[in-house]
Amino acid sequence: MRKELVDLALERKDELSRSACLLERQIAETTAKLHALKAEASELPQKLKRVDSYRHEKGKICPHCFVNVGKRIELTSMSSETNEDNFKCKTCGFEISLSP
Ligand SMILES: [Zn+2]
Repeated sequence: MRKELVDLALERKDELSRSACLLERQIAETTAKLHALKAEASELPQKLKRVDSYRHEKGKICPHCFVNVGKRIELTSMSSETNEDNFKCKTCGFEISLSP
């Protein structure tokens, strides 16, 4: 009877060791995600300021590059079969059709 109880307790040891490993991995992943979210949140005020200042930009500046990283990348004209002019950002790949 006593040996059976000890065996049952020992079975729990393996289960708890696996749980500890799983929890440590989940904590590491969650911590990494938390750091990434904090970094993203800390960049938002600067991005919001760039959104406001974008309207004062002259020319066809890529809105994504301007807002996200503060770079003034001129959109490049692409050939088109329609009446609209197609433009592309060579830095981020953003494409847009603008009426002349
Ligand atoms: Zn861009």
